Order: sequence, then C-alpha cells, then structure tokens
Amino acid sequence: MKDLYIDFDGVIYNSIEVSYKIAEEENITKDYESYYQFFKNLDWCDVLEKSSEINNAFECIRKIIDSNKFNVFILTHVVSLEEAEYKVKLIKDKIKDITIIPVPKNLSKSMMVKVKGAILVDDYPENLREWASDGGIGVRFDLDMDGKGFPVICHLDELIEMF
Ligand SMILES: [Mg+2]
Repeated sequence: MKDLYIDFDGVIYNSIEVSYKIAEEENITKDYESYYQFFKNLDWCDVLEKSSEINNAFECIRKIIDSNKFNVFILTHVVSLEEAEYKVKLIKDKIKDITIIPVPKNLSKSMMVKVKGAILVDDYPENLREWASDGGIGVRFDLDMDGKGFPVICHLDELIEMF
C-alpha cells in the first residue's frame, strides 16, 4: 500500500477562496506578513461554514480508503491552532478512520512526514515541487485540469485508477 497524503484547502474544501474573499472585504494589504496576521486571527468556524466541499471530496476519499490501495492521510497547512481544531472536527465528522496531520504554515509539508515513494495531492505547485525533490510523487488537483508539470486530477477518486 502506498502512503497517500491529501491537501485540504483547495482540494477537499474551497476554504482558501472564501478566506481570500474575507481578506478582500477587510482590505488586507497584499503582502506575506499582512496575510499571515490575517490568517492567524481568522475565524475558522465562520470560514468553514461559508465554504463548501469540492467535487464530492469526502465520498471520493471514502472510495479511496475502501479500495485498500493506499494509507490515506490529510496533510494540511495551518496558521493557528484554532484552524487545526476546526479542520480536524470537520473532517472527523465526515470520515472517522483517517489520520489528519496539521503542518505549521512556516514548515514545508515534506518536512513533516516520510516523503520517499509517497503521493501528495495538492493544488499548490510549490508544495508538489518540494515533495518531488524529496523523492515523493506529486499529483496536482486543479478544476481546470492544469497540471503545471504534474499529473492532474479534478476528482479525488481518479487516484484509484491512476496508481
Ligand atoms: Mg491547498
């Protein structure tokens, strides 16, 4: 069985879109530090309530687990502990038998887990590049099917046929 790590924001839930919309409404300056502070104080309960699931992600993850081809983990960047708390509660409410690994935003996802031979599904190409350079397999999730140099999917259950 291969280790399969699935990103949350922009893959399972459209929460990043929603957060950026809130940032825009609050006229947040578009630089790293301002965004970092904004995300640190963001009300994740509100964000997740306003967000929605992307392309039946949870049903797809269920199918992936039931295929018995992968050890499935959710690997998600977080800025605050509150963000981790609300994400874990939401995911566990949908899927009980899954491991969730929150990654501090200032660390690379590839620093948190054993990458060699493992698959990462992520919408952010930089995460995939770091993953691949550490010996992992990157798959981009993109609704427009633009792989940016990686194999690409727009429904998570496509992974079952891909590997
Ligand atoms: Mg993402």
